[in-house]
Amino acid sequence: MRKMNFFAGPSVMPVEVLKKMEENIFDFEGQGLSMVEASHRGGMFEKMYDECLASFRELLGIPDNYDVFFLGGGATLQFTMIPNAFLKKGGVADYCKTGTWSNKAAVDAAKLGNINVYFDGTASKFTTLPDPASVKASKDSSYLYLCSNETIGGIEWQAFPHIGETPLIADMSSDILSRPVDVSSFAMIYGGVQKNLGPAGATFIILRNDMYSRMNPNLTAYMDYALHAKDKGLYNTPPVFSIWGVKLTLDWIRANGGAEGMLERAIEKSSLIYDVIDHSDFFRSPVDSRYRSRMNLVFRLPNEELEEKFVSESKKAGMLGLKGHRSVGGLRASLYNACPLEDVKKLAAFMKEFEKANK
Ligand SMILES: *Cc1c(COP(=O)(O)O)cnc(C)c1O
Repeated sequence: MRKMNFFAGPSVMPVEVLKKMEENIFDFEGQGLSMVEASHRGGMFEKMYDECLASFRELLGIPDNYDVFFLGGGATLQFTMIPNAFLKKGGVADYCKTGTWSNKAAVDAAKLGNINVYFDGTASKFTTLPDPASVKASKDSSYLYLCSNETIGGIEWQAFPHIGETPLIADMSSDILSRPVDVSSFAMIYGGVQKNLGPAGATFIILRNDMYSRMNPNLTAYMDYALHAKDKGLYNTPPVFSIWGVKLTLDWIRANGGAEGMLERAIEKSSLIYDVIDHSDFFRSPVDSRYRSRMNLVFRLPNEELEEKFVSESKKAGMLGLKGHRSVGGLRASLYNACPLEDVKKLAAFMKEFEKANK
């Protein structure tokens, strides 16, 4: 019996994808070896990888003047690689602090150059975002950075700033392909795959190809985006198992309506839970309702004892991962693409029963 999985990451994957991996882990489509045993150059891996990259382009509508590839090191390595490559010596880059993840990116960037914090949510305990229309880049800014969905705080940009010529860079680790995105308004989009796209290991990079001319000189090999792009991410050994899982997950996303289909699912699922919260004076959302996330739904109960009880009883009911991040406490349900509607319905029913029994 599979549990209902609401973990924030690594997180639930489509059953169909796990089954395909199980069927093929020993002998990939009758070729006599596993995908994880094959060379990453030429042959069956590269064929699968090319299909994966083509799928990603198609599903997200990535224009031709963008390169797409996968790296290792997680989203966290990008907190270093981005300023290392693009933050001009003596220049400035614009960062927001809208939660844990953008804050970590800003802290790393500030060690490598000058940053301007254009929005600081610290005072509001990271429960709100700036109005996108109000966001402006500094003069001669190397780039403006944001995190599209703060996985821990549960806030998500619903629209993005328009900042003219300044490159816009976004961490979309936890909401990639949960909705359509106009890629052409970004210079770079990146993220770890382990929330919405597959097993942990790979980091996706979508990079507009005019950005190479803006890179700092003398980058070491792994730090050099152009070097990676030239070989579509195969400069060194890629995380092959993770990429295989991404390829199969992208097939699943296409079969379920693509980015539009994922958005419909996300609206339906998140509404079920937010409806329970909004129609109750027992559950409470700490987040500005204009920006609450469809992927990571954060909520509180009247006191911490009840929150602990909620976690332990939900576990007994087969629901995993509902404890909030240790840095913020409370409760969190992550409803990524692969999380079945049925499981969310059961969670909503569980919440109502818990309220009745404990109010
Ligand atoms: C999980 C997460 C990260 C960190 O990803 P790693 O792959 O563990 O480095 C960064 N940003 C966001 C928005 C995340 O959700």
